[in-house]
Amino acid sequence: MTDFNSDFTFKELYQEFSLPLSEIDCGEKCGPYNDHGVPVCCDIELVVPSAYDLEWEYLQSETELWRLWQGSGSVEQEELTRKVQPGQQLLQCLGHQYCQRSYRSITCRAFPFYPYQDSSGNLLGLAYYREYRNQCWIISNLSAVKDEYKKQFQRAFGKIFQRYPEIKENFLHFSGYMRRQVADADEGLTLLDFAGRAFMVNPITEQVQEISYCDLESYGPFGIMKDLVFPDEVQDQVQTKKN
Ligand code: SF4
Ligand code: SF4
Repeated sequence: MTDFNSDFTFKELYQEFSLPLSEIDCGEKCGPYNDHGVPVCCDIELVVPSAYDLEWEYLQSETELWRLWQGSGSVEQEELTRKVQPGQQLLQCLGHQYCQRSYRSITCRAFPFYPYQDSSGNLLGLAYYREYRNQCWIISNLSAVKDEYKKQFQRAFGKIFQRYPEIKENFLHFSGYMRRQVADADEGLTLLDFAGRAFMVNPITEQVQEISYCDLESYGPFGIMKDLVFPDEVQDQVQTKKN
């Protein structure tokens, strides 16, 4: 793995991991399909952001945007609280209309991706949280994710993993858990590397095969939208996709 300097402040990390994942404002793509038009990853009913302890300290010193997540005491929420990784806090922001981009948490910046590792602990790229694939427009449009965003993602998690080995370990287990989920569904695991390529990972053997972005699936309403594309729009779409 690339050697990253683990001696960083969250102020620096936020500056280094600041690019939007796409040129398109994807909140305008997924919001119309969600309650009240709220972008899915900013809807506290669907996604609860978290922050590392030092990150939370930094946020509290800089902004009023965040507070600790209270939840509503449901069984699901108690389960989520139990599952939160040590050294992290569950947070709630003021809402998407009051977002302060420079104080978005690392989890906001990374969504819908997690840092995927093979079983040897090599950080290979970005994989997405499967449970959001019917709701998150980006997952159905992975060619829209900017290469420079992926590089910032790699540098940010490289540093986080060096400072917090336990976080690396947690994502290592999570990557294995996702491989088992994908294997049970008899599917491949979609992976974006840090150099602009897309791969399908065999969840059992972990062999990777490069694939074309054109062959990636779309889900939920976004799949239906693609099926409805008119013939004269097809050429435009193909030209914007990478091979
Ligand atoms: S990352 Fe996904 S869920 Fe979040 S705003 Fe973009 S399309 Fe919506
Ligand atoms: S801080 Fe911004 S990006 Fe993060 S959940 Fe709140 S509104 Fe969404």
